[in-house]
Amino acid sequence: MSRMRNKLLAMLLCLTLMLTIIPAQAFAETTGLVTREQAVAELINAIGLGALNETVSDLSVFPDAAEISAEYQDELGIALTNGIIAAGQALNPKEPITRLDFVLILNRAIREFPAFLAPSAFADVPVAYLGEVNRLVRAGILRGYGNGNFGAGDYLTQEQLAVILDRIEALAYTRPQDDFFYSINYNWLISTKLPAGYSYYMSFNEVDASNSRKLMEVVAEIFKNKGTYKQGTKEQKMADFYSTIVDTESRNQQGIAPIKEYLELVDQANTVEELLDTMAKTEKDAGMNFLFTFSPSVDLKNSTRYALYGNGLSTYLPSVYLLMDNPQIAQFYQMFVAQLFMLAGDTQEQALQKAQNLYAFEVLLAQNTMSNEEANKIEKIYNPMSMDELVKLFPHVDLKAYIRNLGYESAKEAIILDVGLMKKTGELISDENLDILKTYAKYALIVGSAPYLTEDFRAVLDSFNQGFYGIAPASKEDVAFSQFSSVMSTYLGQAYVEKYFSDEAKKDVEGIIKEIVAAYEKRIEKLDWMSDATKQAAITKLKNIKAYVGYPEEWNDPLEGIEIKSYENGGSLLGNMMTINAIMAKEAKTLLDKPVEKTGWIVPPQTVNAFYDATKNAIFIPAGILQPPFYDVNASHEQNLGGIGAIIAHEITHAFDNNGAQFDKDGNMSNWWTETDYTVFQQKCHEVIELFDGIEIAPNAISNGNLTVSESVSDLGAMACILDIVKAMPNANYKELFESNARIWRMTATLQGYQFLATQDSHAANKLRVNQILRNLQEFYDTYNIQPNDPMYLAPEDRIAVW
Ligand SMILES: [Zn+2]
Repeated sequence: MSRMRNKLLAMLLCLTLMLTIIPAQAFAETTGLVTREQAVAELINAIGLGALNETVSDLSVFPDAAEISAEYQDELGIALTNGIIAAGQALNPKEPITRLDFVLILNRAIREFPAFLAPSAFADVPVAYLGEVNRLVRAGILRGYGNGNFGAGDYLTQEQLAVILDRIEALAYTRPQDDFFYSINYNWLISTKLPAGYSYYMSFNEVDASNSRKLMEVVAEIFKNKGTYKQGTKEQKMADFYSTIVDTESRNQQGIAPIKEYLELVDQANTVEELLDTMAKTEKDAGMNFLFTFSPSVDLKNSTRYALYGNGLSTYLPSVYLLMDNPQIAQFYQMFVAQLFMLAGDTQEQALQKAQNLYAFEVLLAQNTMSNEEANKIEKIYNPMSMDELVKLFPHVDLKAYIRNLGYESAKEAIILDVGLMKKTGELISDENLDILKTYAKYALIVGSAPYLTEDFRAVLDSFNQGFYGIAPASKEDVAFSQFSSVMSTYLGQAYVEKYFSDEAKKDVEGIIKEIVAAYEKRIEKLDWMSDATKQAAITKLKNIKAYVGYPEEWNDPLEGIEIKSYENGGSLLGNMMTINAIMAKEAKTLLDKPVEKTGWIVPPQTVNAFYDATKNAIFIPAGILQPPFYDVNASHEQNLGGIGAIIAHEITHAFDNNGAQFDKDGNMSNWWTETDYTVFQQKCHEVIELFDGIEIAPNAISNGNLTVSESVSDLGAMACILDIVKAMPNANYKELFESNARIWRMTATLQGYQFLATQDSHAANKLRVNQILRNLQEFYDTYNIQPNDPMYLAPEDRIAVW
């Protein structure tokens, strides 16, 4: 953990230091050295425009812009556009560049590198930059002096630059045996621009963006005839809702009016009990609770009914970042919070004070929040508590009254997701903390509403995302569509299926699912580590998995009876959102007395993803993902198996990962294992944790095997199963299988994007989802003639199979 902390600290330092990390000494007319402007320009020319944005920025942002040579101006302009050099400080274009400075530039100019050589602990490289240096060492582009030093402060020579540029060119010849993911995806990785609005971008996003473009046309067509639809029809709701999104003029005019009433309500609370009453009221009126709430969800131990779940006061910044104790993060986040408070009406002084208090409060909450690793383990988050036990955690208020006011009078118990956090919440909910609780509640309201308010709010959100996650602001059209589809996804889904999905694909994929289930059954029968009794239970569960492909048989209308109003009719974007949220909250409050609807779809059909629902023991393969590169009616069977086949088998394996294995064939958390088998299974999961732990994906982004274990177990089971199917095919083409699998996981990201995912995402980095999985399979070795000296090689005794 401490390793991660130091490394993440480096990431923010890099945001501001860029070119000036080691002050270059005055250029003493030394021959044979590379100047700073030459280094940047030659690098840009060598890598080409592939993954870079080609717009040329204005160099006058540099105080010494006049010194830049005419021949290098275009390249430096492109480097500025792409964040390779940073504005605002002297560029010193004619001074020599140090080796370390060059490393930093190189890391910004190229987003993706292979990794197949060993890293090194150079004595002369500051710890904060070791990740960046080693990224190039591992890709074979740079090396040290062989005496433990890298020569960080030495100037880069012309000779060294020429060698480095040659090696960058040679990356095209990276072998499958060195880094399979990189070698198969090379052309895509070096030519894919990161679109605005993304800190990472993969094939799933590509297909999703293409689905969105298709659906944007549907929306534009409906919006064109706005005002002509009958009140209450889905066309009227879509047209009027979209109009409130794109009518930024009306939104700007309204300012904070849509949230003013709620800000005042929070202000008016004189005691913490009154504040809780206010929360119960805003939850009822607007579907929003700014403190902490309880809500029904399927009871994991009896999946035919709902249980009441509760979580305490949550942090807004991910707790990992709050716990880094990093002054730069603290400052950056507080500036963001203060800007929002100012837009909501506070003076600068008030806003800064609130931001400081809120940050300290969030740090306290983070210290009492379970880690992401724990939160991903189902047994850690299912903690039933009786009302009496729960009430004892809240000594300063009448918690029973709060739960009753929320509408859950009949609840006799609640399941607490994070007990430590709920305990802390119970302590903090007191009159003594009224001020900070009000600040927290107001912040929750403002930050949650910001995307639906004025363009000034949008600008503050954009600049935070840019600085913190490296996300360039998305276009207005893309933001509008994503807001629209977050609410109207069912209507859009119907249109998507009618226009873009064929029943031929649905039937074909249902056939692939049958093939996978049959292969899976044979694998379970042959497992050498499991007793017959457990095998039988596993096979029963497998055969009981329901598979939903494409789209729902019946279309429910989630907006039935909901009135959507345009600005002309007295509505507002946020007003519409509140109306919808309030109806959903009301609906939720009736669930405790109802049986669970077991057959419903859980996502709209245009979704580019796939799911396993443990409480339904069902997989969902939406229409949206049934297209290239995942699936193509014209592709070979091996290619489709490496794509959609691997995805289907992954979802099926979720029924048997470390979480899924705790649920039975009916979707209830109950044990169907013998004790010995379960112990062996846990040991195997532990091996998977080790296989995926501690690998550097990008500078300061280290894989966490514990966080990703359920996904990695599923990836491993999926490819083993798919391989069995291919092995049974006459003249099977293994290359098509493995390469199709590498292609569906192609991905590129900003450094902050990789760093964020490494701490927050329960999936391993895509590169590992290919390389760390395939190296366990003998056919992979045979296909590519992988030898013991090759970096992709794993000794037979170290290879892992779980399912
Ligand atoms: Zn998964």
